[in-house]
Amino acid sequence: MQASAAGKEAVQAAARELLKFVNRGPSPFHVVAECRSRLLQAGFQELKEAEKWELQPERKYFVTRNSSTIIAFAVGGRYSPGNGFSVIGAHTDSPCLRVKRRSRRSQGGFLQVGVETYGGGIWSTWFDRDLSLAGRVIIKNPSSGHIEQQLVHVERPILRIPHLAIHLHRTVNENFGPNPETHLIPILATAVQEELEKGVSDSGSPAAKTNRHQSVLMSLLSAQLGQKPEDILEMELCLTDTQPAILGGAYEEFIFSPRLDNLHSCFCALQALIDSCAAPASLASEPNVRMVALYDHEEVGSQSAQGAESLLTELVLRRISASPKNLTAFEEAMPKSYMISADMAHAVHPNYLDKHEEAHRPLFHKGPVIKVNNKQRYASNAVSEALIREVAGRVGVPLQEFMVRNDSPCGTTIGPILAARLGLRVLDLGSPQLAMHSIREMACTSSVLQTLTLFKGFFELFPVVSQNFAVE
Ligand code: ZN
Repeated sequence: MQASAAGKEAVQAAARELLKFVNRGPSPFHVVAECRSRLLQAGFQELKEAEKWELQPERKYFVTRNSSTIIAFAVGGRYSPGNGFSVIGAHTDSPCLRVKRRSRRSQGGFLQVGVETYGGGIWSTWFDRDLSLAGRVIIKNPSSGHIEQQLVHVERPILRIPHLAIHLHRTVNENFGPNPETHLIPILATAVQEELEKGVSDSGSPAAKTNRHQSVLMSLLSAQLGQKPEDILEMELCLTDTQPAILGGAYEEFIFSPRLDNLHSCFCALQALIDSCAAPASLASEPNVRMVALYDHEEVGSQSAQGAESLLTELVLRRISASPKNLTAFEEAMPKSYMISADMAHAVHPNYLDKHEEAHRPLFHKGPVIKVNNKQRYASNAVSEALIREVAGRVGVPLQEFMVRNDSPCGTTIGPILAARLGLRVLDLGSPQLAMHSIREMACTSSVLQTLTLFKGFFELFPVVSQNFAVE
């Protein structure tokens, strides 16, 4: 199908699927839970790192670490140890505010919640938004005594970071740089109302007993979880915007949404893997392993047990390659393998045209963007670019190019990290978006179907395309 010329209906249907995915993923834990449920539904089998794996050709599997990173893969029917991996990588985390371990704050008659900044967010965009909380809670099960994990997502707006009135801050439009420690503390309630409601919000959780968190916060979370406050041991909570992702613009050609960086890429990668294996014949004739790796902690540098910098990817690739008949299967597989490091790209902004170099201005609707930086902030090179162009040409998806201006800073991705760790060929690519790292970002609808089509084409065509490639 010619994705660029696809009907508006198909384009919007794909975009609406992304909206659902984003709305169900307010924290990395929720993103992995949503991926897990989609994979189970598509017939993937869950593996545990701590158990022995008995992998079979033409079967589909996934494994998670820390409930915030997930690697899913499908073994081709013609796979034998030493064959390559066709991989798409992305990240599950987004910049946000997170509840501190001792979050109880009271100032000026308000009950507040102390937060930590996570990643490089545009923090001014968190002001005057209807905020809530999502993440994971560690609970002591009162009947079994077991320590368990539960996800929590409070869907109603319970927190707010109000702007200071302009009358008290005349220069706000020239230089609003909030202090991340003192100006970003969300309001939960007033002391007056708390006094009136006392008894209702009284909580006996260990966290509340030690005064670590507001007791009304603990009551609210325990009610949401269906647990007693005293059974809540620990929490990892992200602040999240309650406004759902939606289609917008006069022609409904835009996506207005939180966390497009990088749930757009997560969604397209996961769905492309699932769709590429839907027809049994496609996987039966596959010589490679098709894989999607979605990592936590990209926004803070990837250096953690479940980040892209960890040993996890290598361990998984080695376990899949392992064979008593071929002791160098992993080493043979890496040069035959290829990874798309999928992360969002900067579309040109109509009000800031000069921030983009003239010949590298990605536009909405014009296709996924190949990102190049010879200083290795991105891992693309002529070989990995030529390979994807071959795939894109065959499935009719247009591509664009992005390089930063020499006088501009450049972002980076998991691409260079995994290229360095594993030595496989890597391409950095992503859909064009605006307002990256704002609480509410913006992309175009056609980017979803274009990326899905390209990724599905990559899984199906990469072994054939790479066979014709005579470049070492
Ligand atoms: Zn990103």
